[in-house]
Amino acid sequence: MAARPAPYLDDLNPAQRAAVEALDGPVLMLAGAGTGKTKALTTRIVHLLNTGRANPHEILAVTFTNKAAREMKLRVARLMGQSADGMKWMGTFHSISVKILRRHAELVGLKSNFTILDTDDQLRLLKQLIAASDIDEKRWPARMLAGVIDSWKNRAWTPQKVPASEASAYNGRGTELYQQYQDRLRSLNATDFGDLLLHTVTLFQAHPDILAQYQRWFKYILVDEYQDTNVAQYLWLRLLAQAHKNICCVGDDDQSIYGWRGAEVGNILRFETDFPGAEVVRLEQNYRSTPHILAAASAVIAGNSGRLGKTLWTDREEGEKLRLIGHWDGEEEARWIGDEVESLQRGTRAMDAQSLDNMAILVRASHQMRAFEDRFLTIGLPYRVIGGPRFYERMEIRDAMAYFRLAISPEDDLAFERVINTPKRGLGDKARQNIQRRARAEGLTLLAGARALLAEGGISGKGAGQLRAFTDGMGRWHDATLAPNYNHIELAEAILEESGYTAMWQNDKTPEAPGRLENLKELVKALDNFENLQGFLEHVSLIMENETDEQGAKVSIMTLHAAKGLEFPVVFLPGWEDGLFPSQRSMDESGAKGLEEERRLAYVGITRAEVLCTISFTANRRVYGQWQSQLPSRFIDELPADHVDILTPPGLYGGGYGAAAPAPKLEERVASADVYNSPGWRRMQERSAQRGTGQPREAKGTVIDLAAVSSFTQGDRVFHQKFGYGTVDAIEGDKLGVAFDKAGSKKVIASFVVAADQ
Ligand code: ATP
Ligand code: MG
Repeated sequence: MAARPAPYLDDLNPAQRAAVEALDGPVLMLAGAGTGKTKALTTRIVHLLNTGRANPHEILAVTFTNKAAREMKLRVARLMGQSADGMKWMGTFHSISVKILRRHAELVGLKSNFTILDTDDQLRLLKQLIAASDIDEKRWPARMLAGVIDSWKNRAWTPQKVPASEASAYNGRGTELYQQYQDRLRSLNATDFGDLLLHTVTLFQAHPDILAQYQRWFKYILVDEYQDTNVAQYLWLRLLAQAHKNICCVGDDDQSIYGWRGAEVGNILRFETDFPGAEVVRLEQNYRSTPHILAAASAVIAGNSGRLGKTLWTDREEGEKLRLIGHWDGEEEARWIGDEVESLQRGTRAMDAQSLDNMAILVRASHQMRAFEDRFLTIGLPYRVIGGPRFYERMEIRDAMAYFRLAISPEDDLAFERVINTPKRGLGDKARQNIQRRARAEGLTLLAGARALLAEGGISGKGAGQLRAFTDGMGRWHDATLAPNYNHIELAEAILEESGYTAMWQNDKTPEAPGRLENLKELVKALDNFENLQGFLEHVSLIMENETDEQGAKVSIMTLHAAKGLEFPVVFLPGWEDGLFPSQRSMDESGAKGLEEERRLAYVGITRAEVLCTISFTANRRVYGQWQSQLPSRFIDELPADHVDILTPPGLYGGGYGAAAPAPKLEERVASADVYNSPGWRRMQERSAQRGTGQPREAKGTVIDLAAVSSFTQGDRVFHQKFGYGTVDAIEGDKLGVAFDKAGSKKVIASFVVAADQ
C-alpha cells in the first residue's frame, strides 16, 4: 500500500517522532510532565490507522480516567479528520474489563447483566457479613476490611490465592470474610470495582482459548499513565500483550500517585525485563508550562529520593512567578479565589481575559470542594466538579438508581433494601425482617421472598397492599426491560411515578425537596445519552468524573488525583497545609514513602499549570465539623524563592481582595511563616480572641470595623461573605433581616455583614 501523507508527524520533535514511528515491538516512553507523552501516544494511534497497520477495533488503548479516554478520542478524531467511534477498545482498565466480562460472565460465575456496586453498597454488604460473624465492628470497622480486600484484589489475589503471610489481616478473619464476601457478591449477581479486573485476569488465566482470542484481536496496545498501574492491571496487560508484543507504555515515575491503591512504580522498571528489546524513549522538552512553573515543580520533586531522574527544559517565555497567599480560613480562601477567577475572566494587567474553561481549582481532599461550590453558587460563577461523584452521590439520585437496578436485576437485594420503604410503605422493621427471613429460608432474593410472604398472607394491614403494589410494579418494570429497544426514558419516568418516589418529594415540605425533584429530572435527562438503563447504570458506576451537559464555560474543581494528565492556563492549588497536604496519614506514617507520594502529588498539581499557578493555605480549617488551626504545608518551604511571589493576605496591611498589595520583599518572607508573623495576621488573631472565641468566626465578615456593625438601618446596602450583596429590611437585636440579591431573604448576625457601597 502506498504510504499516505502523514502531516501530523511534522508537529512532533525528533524524540516523539521516533516513538511514534517505532510501530512494532515494545516501546516505553518515560518522561516528565508536559513533554508530550500523551500527544505522542495519540499520534501513534493515528499513525497505526493511517499506515493501515490496524483497524480501529484492533487497537486497545488504556487511559486512567474516562475524561482522559474521551479526550484521547477527540484528539485522534481531530488528527484523522474523522470520528474515532470505531475505536471500541479505548477506555479505562475498568470500562474495558466490563466489556470483556459481560461477554463471558458465566465463566466467572456471574450473569451477563451483573451490577457493579459502588463503595457504599460494598460497605453495606461487608457490614452485614461482619454483623453475622462475632466481630466487633467498632474495633474492626468495615472500612478496614474493605481496604484489605481491595488491596488483595489490586494484587490479583482471589481468596484462594491470598498468601499465608496475610493470615493476620483484619484480626485474622480477613481471608475468611473475603471468601464470604465474594460468595455473596456472586449470589447477588454483582461485582465491586476491584472485581472487574480480578475476574478478567482470572478469566484469562483459566481459559487460554479466550485469552488467545483477545490476544489475536488486539494487535496494538497502548497505555497512558503507566506509572499508576497496579499488579492486577499489569498482569492484565501482560497477558494481553504476549502474542504480538506490540505494546507501548508511557509514564512518568514522578507522577505516580496511586501507591495507596496498589500502583507499583516498579512496573516501569520491570518493563524492559518483561519485554526484552524494548525501545526506550526519553522526552525532555516541556511544552506546557512557563519556566517559573517548571522550576518550582522541579525543585519540589527534587526532595524525593530514588527517582529515575530526568532533565526538563522549556523555551516558553518567562511569564509570571507562582503566587503564594495565606488566608484566615477555607471560606475566605474560596472567596478570594472566586474573586480572582472573576477578575481573570475580565482580564488583568498581567493576563488577557481568560475563559472559565481555562481555570481549575485542584484540591487535595474532596471535602475542600464544598467551600468552593458554596461560594461559586452564591456569586453565580459557573463551575463543574470533575472526579467527584457529586451529582450521582445525592440521596435522591441513588434512590432512583436503586429502583432502576432492581428493575433490571431482581436479585439485587441491596437495591431492594434501599428502596423497599422509600417512600414509606407501612413496612416496619418487623415486616422487613420477615421478608429477610422468608428469603433466607429458601435461598430466595428479597423480592421473591416478599412475594412469597404476600402469597401466604404473611404480611397484614396497610403494608400488604403497598408491598403488593411494589412487587407487582417491579415485575412489570422488569418485564419491560427485557423487551429489545424498550424506551428506557419512559420506563424510568414510569418507575419513579408509579413507585410513589416522585410523589414522596412532591409532598415533602423541606427546603431541599424542590432541588431534589430538579435532580430527578436531570437524571431522566441524562438517560437520553444511553441506549438503555443498563448502559446508563454502567456508565454511572464507572464514571470518575461527572460533567453536566450544560453549555457554557465553567471553572473546574477537582482533586489533584483527578487532574492527572490535564492542563489549564490558570491553576489554583488551595489548602497547602500540613495535615491536609501532605495528608495527616502520610505524615504519621513511618518512613518517607507516604510523604514522597504526596510530594509527587504536589508535582502533578504544579505541572498542570501553563501560565499562572497560585498556591494558598489557611490559618484555620474546619475538618468534619471541627475547627483546627493549621500550619502551612512543608511543601511551601520547598518552593524556590526565586520563582514565587508572595501576595498579601486580604484584609492585612489594608490590602484588599483581588488587588493584591505589592508583595513584601522576598527576603522579608520565609516562605509562609511571614504571613503568620506579620502584624496584620497577629492583629487578626487578637481580634478573634477579643471576641472571646479564640476560634474562627462562625460566619466570616473578614476583618471589619466591628464598631460599625450596630449602626445599620433599614434600606442599607450590605455585604455578607456567604450570601453576597443585599438590602437590610429588618433589625431585631443583633440580627438583621436582609433581602439578598441572589440568595433571597435571610436572617443574619449583624456583625457578620459589612456596609456595602453598591
Ligand atoms: P503529563 O505528564 O502531564 O500527562 P504529557 O507528557 O502527556 O504530560 P501532553 O499532555 O501530551 O504531555 O502535552 C503537553 C502539552 O504540550 C500539550 O498541550 C501538547 O499539545 C503540547 N505539545 C506536546 N508536544 C508538542 C510538540 N512537539 N510541539 C508543540 N506542542 C507540543
Ligand atoms: Mg499525559
